[in-house]
Amino acid sequence: MAFFMLPNVVEYACVCGLLNPLTKLYFCRYCMKLRCGFCVCHEVDSHFCSNCLENIPSSEAKIRKNRCNTCFNCPSCQHTLSVRAANTIIQVPAPEAVKTESDAGGNGVKKESTPEPSPGKPIARKLYYLSCLHCRWNTRDVGIPDQPVATGQWPEPEYANATRFALLLEHYQSVVLHEKQEKQELWRRKTPKQSKFPSMTDRTGLTVAMIRRQMGWADSKAQLKSAPLAINKSVASETVDGLPADIFTKELTLKKISTLEQRLAHPAKQPVTVNKLFPQHKLLSIKRSLRCRQCDHNVIKSEYNPSSIKYRIAMFATYHVPEVRFVRCEPLIKGQDSFLTLKIINPTINDMTITIMELPMEAEEQLMIDELKLAAESSSASSSLMISGLSTSSLTKQASLMEDPRMVEAKVNGSFRLPDSSFVINHRDDSAEFDEVVQSQQEDPKFIIWRKANQIAMKLAVQPNEDCNADNEIVIGFSLQYTYVNTVVEKSSTPTKGPQKQALTTRVFVKLGKLSEAASS
Ligand SMILES: [Zn+2]
Ligand SMILES: [Zn+2]
Ligand SMILES: [Zn+2]
Ligand SMILES: [Zn+2]
Repeated sequence: MAFFMLPNVVEYACVCGLLNPLTKLYFCRYCMKLRCGFCVCHEVDSHFCSNCLENIPSSEAKIRKNRCNTCFNCPSCQHTLSVRAANTIIQVPAPEAVKTESDAGGNGVKKESTPEPSPGKPIARKLYYLSCLHCRWNTRDVGIPDQPVATGQWPEPEYANATRFALLLEHYQSVVLHEKQEKQELWRRKTPKQSKFPSMTDRTGLTVAMIRRQMGWADSKAQLKSAPLAINKSVASETVDGLPADIFTKELTLKKISTLEQRLAHPAKQPVTVNKLFPQHKLLSIKRSLRCRQCDHNVIKSEYNPSSIKYRIAMFATYHVPEVRFVRCEPLIKGQDSFLTLKIINPTINDMTITIMELPMEAEEQLMIDELKLAAESSSASSSLMISGLSTSSLTKQASLMEDPRMVEAKVNGSFRLPDSSFVINHRDDSAEFDEVVQSQQEDPKFIIWRKANQIAMKLAVQPNEDCNADNEIVIGFSLQYTYVNTVVEKSSTPTKGPQKQALTTRVFVKLGKLSEAASS
C-alpha cells in the first residue's frame, strides 16, 4: 500500500536491503527478484518535447542543449507559452520610408488587404506574439517585436559571457576527449589481441609501430593524442564597479524585481528586473528504460513513439508480487493481543500459494547478503571474460555499479502469531465479477476472514514488544513466500519443461501505528 503524500504503511525489502512500497519496485523475471530504483540501470531511450511531441535524436538534443527549438516556457511562471495572433494596423512603407508600427491594440479598424496597397495607407496584417495563458505574461511586455509568421524566429537574448563560456566549453570538451583517448590507448595495450588470423608481422618479429617508423610515417599514437586546447585563466581583479549611490535609499518595487526561481531559470542571464525576462526554450523530456543490473535484461521499456504512453516491457512488481494492504488494527496495548487485518491480493493469472513466515535472523540475513555478493561477483567476472575480446568496458562497468546488499534498516518492535498453515489465493480473473455462477466456497483456515475473487483478508494477533515507548511506531515484519509461475523459458533448460512453478520469498514490513493512548496513560 502506497500513498502519494503520506508515509508508507506497507513496505517491501528489495534485494539490496532498501525498503520501498510495492509501487516503486520492479520485478526481474530472469533473476526472480525484486529490484528497487538503485538496483536497475536507468538508460535514456529517446528525447522528445512534451509540448509538440517531436522526437529528437540524442545527438541533436545535445546540440540543442536539451531544449526544443519551437516551444517556449513562460519566463515568469514556467508554463508553456501559446502563440496568439492579432490584427495590427501597419503603414505600408512608402518607397523610401522606414516601416513603422502603429498601436498594437489589435481592435482598430480592420481593412481588407488590397492586392496593391498604395504607399502610406494603413492596412491590417496578422502578427503573432507569445502569451502565457496562466499568468498573462506576453512578449509585448518586454518589447519583443511581433513576428509575421506563427513559428517565427524569436530573437535570442544576448548574454554578456557567452563567448567566454563557449571557449570554456570547447576547452573542457577537448580535455574529456583527450582523457578518453588515453583510456582507450591504455585499454588497447592491456588487452591481448585475439585475432582469428595469424598476424604476418608477428612471425617476422616486426610490430606495426616498427613498420611505420621504417616507412617514415608518424607514430599512430602521436596522431591520436591531441593536447587539450589552451585557455586563458580567469583572473580575479580588485577593481570592481562601485554600488549606485541610491542603493540603500531608493524604494524597492518588488513587482519589478524578478524572483529567485525566475533568475535561476535563466542561468546564463539571471535578470534582476522583470522587464529583462525572455521566453525560454522548453526543456526536452526523455523516455527511460530500466535494466536489471545483475542480468542486464530490460525491466521497463516504453514504446518509442513520444505520443504513446504504453510499455513494451513493463515488469512492475505490482503485476507479479502479491500485494499486502493494511486494512485496520485494533488499539495496541502492551502485553495484550490486538487483531490486525491485512488484505492480500494476487495480481497474477495463476493461483498462488502463500505462506507467512518469520523474518530471517540477523545471521541468516548476513548469510543471504554474502551469497548475493558472491553471485554478483561471479556474474560480473563472467561478463568481463565474455567481452574481454571486444574492448568495450561498458558491461563490466555496469556490473561493478551493483548496489551493495545491506541489512534491512527497519527495526521490528512487535510480534505476531504466525498463521498455522499456507493458503491459496485464486488467480486474477477480470471477467469473474460478471459471472453468475458462484464459486464453491473452499475450506479456509480460521485466520482467513474474507475471500473474494483474487483477494483475501486475514486476521493476525499482534503484540507490541515490552520495551516499546509511547512515541515508538510499532512495526511488524514477516517473510512472505508465494508461488510464482515463470513463463520465461531458459535456453539451457530442456524446452519440454514449459512454465515452472517456483516459490519466492520477499520480506514485508507493516507499520501499525503507535501504542494506544488509553493504555499508556
Ligand atoms: Zn535495491
Ligand atoms: Zn516542442
Ligand atoms: Zn506565465
Ligand atoms: Zn535480473
